[in-house]
Order: sequence, then structure tokens, then C-alpha cells
Amino acid sequence: MPPTSQPELVTTVAELRAALGSVRRGGKTIALIPTMGDLHEGHLSLVRAAKQECDYTVVSIYVNPSQFGRGEDLDKYPRTLRTDLDALAECGVELVLAPGDDEVYRPQHATWVEVGAVGEPLEGRHRPDHFRGVATIVLKLLNMVGPDVAYFGQKDYQQALVIRQMVEDLDVPVELRICPTVREPDGLAMSSRNAYLSPEARQRSLALHRSLELAEQLIAAGQCSAQSILDRMQQELLTAADDARIDYLALADPDTLEPVHEIRGPVVALLAVHIENTRLIDNRILQMTKHK
Ligand code: AMP
Repeated sequence: MPPTSQPELVTTVAELRAALGSVRRGGKTIALIPTMGDLHEGHLSLVRAAKQECDYTVVSIYVNPSQFGRGEDLDKYPRTLRTDLDALAECGVELVLAPGDDEVYRPQHATWVEVGAVGEPLEGRHRPDHFRGVATIVLKLLNMVGPDVAYFGQKDYQQALVIRQMVEDLDVPVELRICPTVREPDGLAMSSRNAYLSPEARQRSLALHRSLELAEQLIAAGQCSAQSILDRMQQELLTAADDARIDYLALADPDTLEPVHEIRGPVVALLAVHIENTRLIDNRILQMTKHK
């Protein structure tokens, strides 16, 4: 293996702009991948997509307090900068932005992005200020870096829609890429929060993926009633994970997230479930197959 060089690490916006000035003057295209660190293959798949498409890749690592609700896991969220930098060096990332809270939110910070209807159901109902925090930090990072292209994961489906809406509404000059969810070999969607699960709960958490697969099979078999599919998904979940506490289980329009009652075209199945004390989310886009 050729030796890998560590990315340049900056912690302030001034350092960031100094580093990016010559990149931009050199006519290079810049990619941004916003993350909260504790990087896994899901994050790295976004980095690899960026490396293929752009000349210079920036990864931000920042655990954004404003997107965590009271009683959520802000304090225990894993912070693993050293190993993250090693993983990013292997991928050939040029620059990492890892600002402190003081750099991001000055004491007089008072401006927030208010998200519209697409942020209201599902996650928005269960985590009231979550998307306001997400949209604000993403807009700040886009303004700090000024990337040509920014990369997000389908794993956080509603988040991707909220960001798409914000970028369109506020004329943010960036292209967005939404990359497929990366899963463990047994189907569990990769997430930094999976590490909170005990081995037994980790096993039960496969119920999320299984219920999404069941929904896919039912739709492929011609089931058109959303309620019947949701009932079967819930049954599957609670059979495989008897302690599961369901925040939501939904079949929705893939663009607006409005609930779908009758399956007539593509839908997205989304769910958020607490297993043990860990809240997991997952989703899948489901297509009808044409019956003759
Ligand atoms: P996070 O660090 O959880 O804020 O995630 C940073 C970015 O990585 C977001 O755009 C996520 O949607 C994306 N991401 C997280 N997990 C996965 C995964 N398993 N597959 C693909 N993308 C992911």
C-alpha cells in the first residue's frame, strides 16, 4: 500500500478560507461531506463518491448541539477524531474541518433556518427542533466551505429532503448528491449509534431491515393497501424485537413525505424504533413491479 498522507486539519473558518483560496483559484472543484464523526463505511461511501467526482474533498466533523433534543445522546455521542483522520487519510481526503462549539455558535448567535412542511412529520414530530438545527448547521457549513457538490446519505431520508428544500428555497449554489444507505452484511443500516446496542439488542435490531424487506415483498406481490402493509411491518417488528418501541412506521410519498394510502407508484417506507435505549432509523424506496 502506498503511504497515505493525513488530511490538513483546520478548526477555524479563517484557516479554512485560507486553505481553500488557492484551491479555488486553481480552478479545482470542491466537495463537502458534512458528518458528526465516528466515521464508518456509510460515511466513507460518501467520501469515495466525492473523490470520484471532485478535485478536492473537504469533510467536516462536528457534533452539532442544536440538532439534539433535551435528554438525547449529545454528551455520549462518540468523538473519535484521531481514528477518523486515519480513515480519511486512507481515502485521500485533502482537508478536515473540525471546529469547536465556540467557532460555530458565537454567544450572540440568533439566526435559525425554519424548515417547511417536509420537516414536519415523522422525525419532525418526534424531535421537534431537530431539523431546525440540522438545516442551520448545514447552511453554515455550505457557506463556510462553498463547495461545488455536497454529499448526504439516504440513510437520513427526511434530512436529505429538508436540505434539498432549503438549497432550492434559499438559492444555495451547490449541487446535492444523495448516496445509497450502506448496510452491515446482515442488513442493519450502518450508524454511529449501533455501537450503543448490546449484542442481543444488535440482533433484535435486524427487525427494522426485515420489516422494510417485508414491505418490499408485499408491494412486489401486488398488495396496494398501505394499512395492510403497515400492519404486517409492525407485526414483523414486534415479533423480531419484542421490546421495540415504535416512534413511527410510515409509507409516504418519496418527495413530499405525505402519507400514502393506496400504493400506485413509488413510495418510501420509513421507520424509527427504540431498541433497548437506542433510537434507530431506516428507510427504503419501494417500487411496484408491473403486473401483466
Ligand atoms: P452523521 O455523521 O450521522 O451526521 O452522518 C453524516 C452523513 O453520512 C449524513 O449525510 C448521513 O446520511 C450519512 N450516513 C450515515 N450513515 C450512513 C449509511 N449507513 N449509509 C450512507 N450514508 C450514511
